[in-house]
Amino acid sequence: MKTIKRVSSHYDFRRLMNPRAKKGEAYKPTDVEHMANIITHGGCIPLSVLAMLWMLYISQTRLQFVIALVYGWALIALFSVSCTFHSLAFCGKFQRLKNFFHIADRAVIYIFIASSYSPWLTLRDFSGIEDEMMWLIWIMAVIGIVYSYTFHEKYKILEIILYLIIGVCPAAVAFMMREPSGIYELFLGGLSFITGVVFFKSDGVIPFAHAIWHLFVLVGTMFHFYAINLYLLGQEVDEIMMTK
Ligand SMILES: [Zn+2]
Repeated sequence: MKTIKRVSSHYDFRRLMNPRAKKGEAYKPTDVEHMANIITHGGCIPLSVLAMLWMLYISQTRLQFVIALVYGWALIALFSVSCTFHSLAFCGKFQRLKNFFHIADRAVIYIFIASSYSPWLTLRDFSGIEDEMMWLIWIMAVIGIVYSYTFHEKYKILEIILYLIIGVCPAAVAFMMREPSGIYELFLGGLSFITGVVFFKSDGVIPFAHAIWHLFVLVGTMFHFYAINLYLLGQEVDEIMMTK
């Protein structure tokens, strides 16, 4: 007698991911998730090198050149550290090195946030508070890095709150920019990062959640890179110099 196999028309997407991580532990991605994590940020490394070279090429003043270097290196560091961590996580060996890069992967986000604010605080006039804001943002980045090192994978909700505080709160001063051009791109970039956090926290709930977070980081970065190029670099005189 022939048995008729019932073929389900729905693919079970849960096969693409593993169960959620237990408290205090890191999520273990499936092989395809590992690969997606590596590719999504690995592919950004050559792009960020090109981005830095382009920013250096169009810079017109000494300050613009410094900013192109700082922001360019932050881009390269973000994607390189991320890709290295995910590659080590996939290969499953070198546990100590992998743990180091896991902490570095979280810590570099704070450097990246501070580096994303720096071009604006350096080249734009914020009614006189740009220097204080610059100190505040970099001090917060250092606090974030120390936090990543000390409480790695412990208080995960606190980690997200810290990212959001450091990432979002300084944006309040954007309204003090005397020249407001670029503010929409900054807002859209920020919105992309914040939306991405939903996926950052969805490992084991949505397949490829971490790779999707990577893509939101890429889109947010593209908005900010576009704005820096269009409004800050390539100007013959920096706005900050005109008002001092
Ligand atoms: Zn990642």
